Amino acid sequence: MSKVVTYSPAYTIVPTYECFNRCTYCNFRTNPGKSPWLDLATARNKLLELQTQGVCEILILSGEVHPRSPRRQAWFNLVYDLCNLAISLGFLPHTNVGPLSFAEMSQLKTVNASMGLMLEQLTPKLLHTVHQHAPSKVPALRLQQLEWAGQLQIPFTTGLLLGIGETVDDWRDTLEAIANLHQRYGHIQEVILQPHSPGSQQSFNASAFKPQQLIEAISIARQILPIEITIQIPPNLVAEPNLLFACLEAGARDLGGIGPKDEVNPDYPHISAEELANILVLDVWQLMPRLPIYPQYEGWLSPNLQANYYKWQITIK
Ligand code: SF4
Repeated sequence: MSKVVTYSPAYTIVPTYECFNRCTYCNFRTNPGKSPWLDLATARNKLLELQTQGVCEILILSGEVHPRSPRRQAWFNLVYDLCNLAISLGFLPHTNVGPLSFAEMSQLKTVNASMGLMLEQLTPKLLHTVHQHAPSKVPALRLQQLEWAGQLQIPFTTGLLLGIGETVDDWRDTLEAIANLHQRYGHIQEVILQPHSPGSQQSFNASAFKPQQLIEAISIARQILPIEITIQIPPNLVAEPNLLFACLEAGARDLGGIGPKDEVNPDYPHISAEELANILVLDVWQLMPRLPIYPQYEGWLSPNLQANYYKWQITIK
């Protein structure tokens, strides 16, 4: 009998690459004001193309405009309008655009099947290294986002970035914080374990996270996280088949959104779901599509997303 690993047929829309943070491992950002924002007409044309390509999830992934910037409201409106546009064309949006105010998060809940924010690592020592110029990466601020998502009943994806200067004990602290929040609100649907994979645009000078350590991190996460939280790994960063199989053996069960480009790690393109399925079957793993909202959260869906949800529930089987 084959074993099942899931993925989400997804496409990433980027409202803007500009970001007021400067994480030293970043391969995504441009300086504020230095890249044009996506306009709705261009987004609409792209989404129309995707309607015939089996894409279900539209991941809205953005650099951050400072909360006190006079352009913040326009940026937020663009994110909100892109979600609405995706819904109107039959997709299920999942937004991950950095820390939000409580009011912004409440508003985005109404136009998202689920949302996400990487916790990355809780240790404050990173504020003196990779996050020295990244005010959004203050651990307490990010923990509060996870707490608000729970209070608002938003199915949530979070995760750890591994290999940015933390220790194994730091992983445990971060995983325990996620587990504790989930025990209170029951809203964490998946946790991504993302290995640092050097890219061509970053200034952080460290080697790639070691494969053996990723297997160890998955095993530790599986011990700490409640069983209903799925562990996700990005297959483009775990490209060697035997490593991929070892990660699944250790407890990973989801491969995240698979689309043509990984916007966060543009130096590591995805292979297609078909190619991935052909690799996985060699170790008797069956690759199955899933929706961006896990079935146990159906009751939390906003009314305007329900028609799309039921359509995709029938289509993706
Ligand atoms: S990693 Fe995210 S928050 Fe940090 S600079 Fe890049 S886009 Fe901004």
